[in-house]
Amino acid sequence: MQNIKIPILMYHSIESMPKSTVMRSLHVPPRRFDFQMKMLKLLGYQALSLKNLKPYLDGKKQGKVVGITFDDGYQNNLINAVPILLKYNFSATCYIVSENLGLSNTWDLDKGITQRPLMTIDEIKAWLSFGMDIGGHTQTHTDLTKISIKAAKREINTSKGDLENTFNTQVTDFCYPFGRFNELISDLVKESGYLSATTMERGIVKSMTNRFMLPRMPINHRTLPHLFLAKILTNYEDRR
Ligand SMILES: [Zn+2]
Repeated sequence: MQNIKIPILMYHSIESMPKSTVMRSLHVPPRRFDFQMKMLKLLGYQALSLKNLKPYLDGKKQGKVVGITFDDGYQNNLINAVPILLKYNFSATCYIVSENLGLSNTWDLDKGITQRPLMTIDEIKAWLSFGMDIGGHTQTHTDLTKISIKAAKREINTSKGDLENTFNTQVTDFCYPFGRFNELISDLVKESGYLSATTMERGIVKSMTNRFMLPRMPINHRTLPHLFLAKILTNYEDRR
């Protein structure tokens, strides 16, 4: 098998936020996101959703590719990121919390993190209609390592089934809430029929990487152009 080296980028909110915002780092201003996508295009990369990335991860297709992921399903992903992704003919995966459709990031309330609206059912349908993809992010965005196995199974399986029924699409990619997982949890995700799972571990995906423990590259407010390029083009993330 060909040696692969594929970066998967991790975004949350694509929006300009005031300096006072708690965890402002999770918000990437649209202009900066546009610049990053333009860089990828100019460098000859194709940015893809996890579903479109799969043949490359499996070594069945070769090419300069990057995975694009958005955690939680923020409304601003549809409003601000989709037009930019379409401009460069890119696709992306948005990880959806199945019981918070149309609500907000309620799991962050106790941390004082700014509440942002999440996509409604119709907005997720619009996201899909633009050729974007969705993945599972549990029912309630709970730390799966802190609940019973039975409850973890329900969070993983029920959210997958609910998303597939509501949106009439196959949901094959999963993302661990808060990046929290262990071997048992990753086995449960595998058994549920998912084909991949992303973490918050940092690094680049290689041929040997476990498909249910995929590392990513966090792109946030502080990711200035030179750092963005270093993440994509060098082994910067692996050396950290
Ligand atoms: Zn999340």
